[in-house]
Order: sequence, then C-alpha cells, then structure tokens
Amino acid sequence: MQTNEPIRCLIIGSGPAGYTAAIYASRANLKPVLYEGMQPGGQLTKTTEIENFPGYPKGVSGFQLMADMRNQALRFNADIRYGVATATDLSVYPYKITIDEEHVHEAYSLIIATGATAKFLGLADEQRYAGMGVSACATCDGFFYRNKDVAVVGGGDTACEEALYLSGLCKKVYLIVRKAHLRASKIMQERVLGTANIEVLFEHNAVGLFGENGVEGAHLVKRSGEADEEKIDIAIHGFFLAIGHHPNSEIFKKHLETDETGYIITQGNTPKTNLPGVFAAGDVADPNYLQAVTAAASGCKAAIEAERFLVEKGL
Ligand code: NDP
Repeated sequence: MQTNEPIRCLIIGSGPAGYTAAIYASRANLKPVLYEGMQPGGQLTKTTEIENFPGYPKGVSGFQLMADMRNQALRFNADIRYGVATATDLSVYPYKITIDEEHVHEAYSLIIATGATAKFLGLADEQRYAGMGVSACATCDGFFYRNKDVAVVGGGDTACEEALYLSGLCKKVYLIVRKAHLRASKIMQERVLGTANIEVLFEHNAVGLFGENGVEGAHLVKRSGEADEEKIDIAIHGFFLAIGHHPNSEIFKKHLETDETGYIITQGNTPKTNLPGVFAAGDVADPNYLQAVTAAASGCKAAIEAERFLVEKGL
C-alpha cells in the first residue's frame, strides 16, 4: 500500500454536494481533491429533467446540471480525480483514506458526499433477472423496453418520474403502489394519474417474477393479508424499482455516528460529524429532503466548516 501526498481538504463523492463543496473549497484556496466515486456526477446523471433547481427556468437534464457543477469546480482548479474510497481509518489524524484499495491519502479535513444507492425489494427473483429485465434506473434501461409493457414499483416522486419517463417509450406502464395512495408530490401525482398508458395498481405488492429468458411477468398480491386478498399476474418485460435509497456510509460507520438506517448523523444545522474536521453533506446524511438543491447547500456548508476548521488548526 502506497501513501500519497497529504491533502488539506479531501472530498469523497461527486453529486451536487461534492461538487459544490469543491467549488467553495477551491475558491477558499483549500486546494481540494475530489474523488468522484463509482458514478461520476452521482444519481442525478441518471434522472431525466430537473425542474426545481433554481436558476434553470426551463429545466435542465440531470447530466447537464452535474456537468455544469463539475466545470464550475474545475474553473477554480479543484483537483477532480477518478477513484473510489474503499477504506478509512479515522482513528488517527490526519485521517487516512484508501482509494481503489491501492493508495492511502492523509486528509487534514474530510468531506463525505457519497450519496445514497437505490433499494431493491429483496426478492430472490431480482437477483435471478438482474440485467434481464430488472432495473433501478428507467433512464438507463428504459430504451430496451420500447413498445413493451413494464412495471415500476413505488409511490414516491422517483417512481412517478420513472413511470412518466417510461410512458413515453413503452406501450403500457403499471405503477405498483403498496398503499392506497401515492406519496409523491401533488404535481407528480396529477401527471401520473393523467397519463393514459400508466395504470396505477394501488394496494399491490410484487412478490415474484417469471419468464424463461428474462422477465415475462410479475406475480402480485392485492391487499395482502386482508379477507379480500387477491393474487394476480401481469405480463411485463421490464421491472423497475423506485422504492427509495440507502446511504453509502459503509466505510465510515466504524468511526462515525449513524442512525439505524446508516445515515451519518450531523450536529444541528451543520454538516459536522462526531469527529473534528470530518463533515458529511448531501444524501449520505439526509434522510429527509434528498434534493439536489439541499445537497448543494450542505456541500457549501461543509466546505465553509472545513475552512474554519483548518484555520483554527493553523493548517
Ligand atoms: P420515497 O422514500 O419518497 O418513496 C419511496 C416509495 O417507495 C414510497 O411510495 C414507499 O411506499 C415505496 N416503498 C418503499 N419500500 C417499499 C417496499 N418494500 N415495497 C413497496 N413499496 C415500497 O423515495 P423517492 O426515491 O421517491 O424520493 C426520495 C426523495 O427525493 C423525496 O423527498 C422526493 O420528494 C425526492 N425526489 C424529488 C424529485 C423531484 O422533485 N423531481 C424526483 C425524485 C425524488 P410508502 O409510501 O408506502 O412508504
């Protein structure tokens, strides 16, 4: 294992939180190094149109928004690198972060902006049909199901967004919702309910998939456990999960306080963690808002706190 140069401000993750932290940290002359992780640009590169990020009155694609943020960080000479943080030792200072299991950086301040990853239902069939009809990203894989019937599982904004996107490509989209109502925002609900080729199946749960050479259908249960419980099968070729996310905090959990789901706990209205000089920004520390704009804001706060911390330390 090779030890690389010490870094004043190490940022891990490249969603809106990570890039915004890089913009602020580089403008404050902290000479930040940002490792982009497995999915440069983060989850937003896989969404469609973003209509609620301020400054884009006509909307902007997730991919474009992240490219803009990245370029803005580069403009101030942020050192953006490919690489995945694979281990940490936060029991010593400067903190030790291993990248790609190969080299170790010493960081005088650390901003964790590793985001969150899509959840699956936990059905054995999700594994069995991985890459053969099961997906957690409609914008990545929807193209393969043009003019076919598909299903999306979930009742939140993501599920509605995915269903709407797929409705433009596919013949029919089933939206499988476990409750009797959608959790999504009103505007998304209205769009989904007003789209002719989306059929919302309220109070349904997917319990399995079937098909010879890929997904050909899903087994559903309506009103599971009730007296009028009903088992039905739907014919579909694509099965899309949109049931939320879990935080990417695994490599930090040994040293940082997290909640029962794994979200890093931050102090009050700040991105400070339980360790001095370690800050958490964006979805990895936010089970509540999960918005690009709130992630960006917390990345900004993290960089400001990192600067204050380094100044106090005289570094
Ligand atoms: P949410 O947590 O909001 O919704 C998850 C959905 O999946 C809920 O309907 C939930 O059901 C359902 N679900 C969870 N687990 C299961 C399960 N095991 N079986 C069946 N259904 C399940 O996640 P989202 O990813 O949709 O959204 C996260 C955040 O991001 C939200 O704050 C949302 O507003 C935001 N967002 C905003 C967008 C925008 O503004 N354009 C776009 C996308 C996301 P139940 O309701 O029963 O719990």
